[in-house]
Amino acid sequence: MIDIYTKLSNFAPIKKDVSFKTMTTLRIGGTAAYVATPENMIALQALIETIKKLNIPFKVFGKGSNILCGDGYYPGVIILLDRHFDDYYFDDENIIAQAGCSIIAIAYGAMKKGLSGLEWSCGIPATLGGCLYMNAGAYKSSMKDIVTEVLVLKDGNFVWLSNEECQFAYRKSIFQQHPDWIILACKMKLKQGDSKQIASLMDDRKARRMATQPLNYPSAGSVFRNPQDTFAWSLIDGIGYRGKQVGGAMVSDKHPNFIVNSGNATCEDFLNLVNQIQTKVKATYDIDLIMEVEKFN
Ligand SMILES: Cc1cc2nc3c(=O)[nH]c(=O)nc-3n(C[C@H](O)[C@H](O)[C@H](O)COP(=O)(O)OP(=O)(O)OC[C@H]3O[C@@H](n4cnc5c(N)ncnc54)[C@H](O)[C@@H]3O)c2cc1C
Repeated sequence: MIDIYTKLSNFAPIKKDVSFKTMTTLRIGGTAAYVATPENMIALQALIETIKKLNIPFKVFGKGSNILCGDGYYPGVIILLDRHFDDYYFDDENIIAQAGCSIIAIAYGAMKKGLSGLEWSCGIPATLGGCLYMNAGAYKSSMKDIVTEVLVLKDGNFVWLSNEECQFAYRKSIFQQHPDWIILACKMKLKQGDSKQIASLMDDRKARRMATQPLNYPSAGSVFRNPQDTFAWSLIDGIGYRGKQVGGAMVSDKHPNFIVNSGNATCEDFLNLVNQIQTKVKATYDIDLIMEVEKFN
């Protein structure tokens, strides 16, 4: 019998039977059979080759801030890049950064260098890789506006993709069509600005988040994409679901497009609430609300 743990351990530190509650900001979910934290690109490349030979599933997690994990057992490997792929460098107004970097850390680094363009991202508890995958954004800005190239591990090869090749759109990118590609790094171009003004805008953005989002509870941010010409939160408010609770999952009183884990929520609780909202919004407004949070496993 193949000893999967020993095979994987050749290329990265491996932990067995890890709770998804420790890997996601929602703190919901069952158990992952293996969690790998590769230390560099060649180790990651060899790890993926081995995983493919063993024919077991894998998935890269960033900070797990957009993922709802199922309550069951995942028989595959979760790969975490935020432990070791976390270097970033500045060259004039250009930044080159590894996928596991915290987007908040890069935004603060840029502010100190007097570089503008990432102010919108402060307050998003995410890695660069997750932000590229989702084309994360806020205040009418997104990754699309600043990315020049993305380095990807694709079919065993390291390939640079241009901004256009990433096919960024509202919370969309080409990476969502290729779950086996791994984002390794990215180049971004910001604009020269004034550190004090940038810091003040970041403080303002942060204060707005604190005032409008339920940051005292575990969540995965906005649950639904905003439909055209309206806001998901106002539709949820309109059906009277502010504060509605199913088990431990609760529509936030503060921001109805957040479903929070008010304590021991299960994936089933969360999806039950999502389902009720989608059904009532469809019946009331004839609008299909689409989940922005990704259901995994
Ligand atoms: C309090 C709060 C506020 C938020 N505010 C915002 C906001 O203002 N704007 C916004 O857009 N989002 C927001 N979000 C949602 C979330 O932070 C973003 O979607 C973010 O992009 C997810 O990044 P992550 O690193 O946590 O990725 P994860 O949630 O870990 O992963 C998301 C997806 O990306 C994939 N992925 C991650 N890294 C890689 C990689 N290196 N290679 C390939 N695939 C990868 C994963 O497999 C998964 O499919 C918020 C979330 C919270 C909890």
